[in-house]
Amino acid sequence: MSKKYLANPTNTLAVINKYGFAFQKKFGQNFLIDENIVAKIVREAGVTKDDFVLEIGPGIGTMTQLLCENAREVAAVEIDKKLIPILEDTLSEYDNVTVINEDILKVDIASLAADRNGGRPIKVVANLPYYITTPIIMGLFESHAPVDSITVMVQREVADRMQTGPGSKDYGALSLAVQYYARPEIVANVPPECFLPRPSVGSAVIRLVKHMVNPVAVRDEALMFKLIRASFNQRRKTLANGLNNSSELNLSKQVITQSIEELGKGAAVRGETLTLAEFARLSDIIDSRCLRRSI
Ligand code: SAM
Repeated sequence: MSKKYLANPTNTLAVINKYGFAFQKKFGQNFLIDENIVAKIVREAGVTKDDFVLEIGPGIGTMTQLLCENAREVAAVEIDKKLIPILEDTLSEYDNVTVINEDILKVDIASLAADRNGGRPIKVVANLPYYITTPIIMGLFESHAPVDSITVMVQREVADRMQTGPGSKDYGALSLAVQYYARPEIVANVPPECFLPRPSVGSAVIRLVKHMVNPVAVRDEALMFKLIRASFNQRRKTLANGLNNSSELNLSKQVITQSIEELGKGAAVRGETLTLAEFARLSDIIDSRCLRRSI
């Protein structure tokens, strides 16, 4: 196929019809058909000719085309094997792209960055499949793979949850986890008309710039995240009850009450009012108390 940009309804439909491609809802397939949005994502990701870019879910290659033109090298991971021959066609004129037919949740991103980018930080850019947004993003952070930014299209509501702080109904475990690892910024709101087929929800592009140094210091990261999950699993309950009822934690009522007191909060405080710094402090307080008790 000669160079034909796919980010419009006519060219996307031409490819879909040529291959008799049937959209798979189970893979979250909503392809971009708006060239301004595709260009905006690549621009906001700050992709340059120095960059190795990981694209998650290239679809028919709409954004991949632009990534290839702006990056040094692109690796595009696509789960749907029916899209692989299509990508071979639509990306045939780019020699700096590798398409990997795999489930992104099974890809070892740290090894990919080590093998293909000498272990230097990579950029992740994607119009994500919405059904696995959280595992993809948390997997990227928790793998500790060298990633300097993640610029992705997600469901609008999920973007709000990532960016918000205490006091909002959207504030939760995802907000705290994302903000522990990165600085989130919503850079575009995207209506359903920009996709084929149209999703039933609004979308947003969010850029997560990884912190060089974590914004809070905490001795036991895993304990802090258990406390965060316990607090938000039972949002309407007090922090003390949330921690007490958690199956992940095994804390005595006394440790919980005394730790919340040491944090300077009243017994009725709810987890949803705590900042990331307060969760980190609470975690260190509990950690010290448990250590003291086990010595
Ligand atoms: N990037 C294309 C675009 O913007 O037009 C397609 C985006 S579409 C929202 C999501 C893409 O992710 C689809 O191509 C889908 O097949 C792919 N996908 C879904 N689950 C995946 C997974 N676990 N690993 C890799 N790709 C996946």
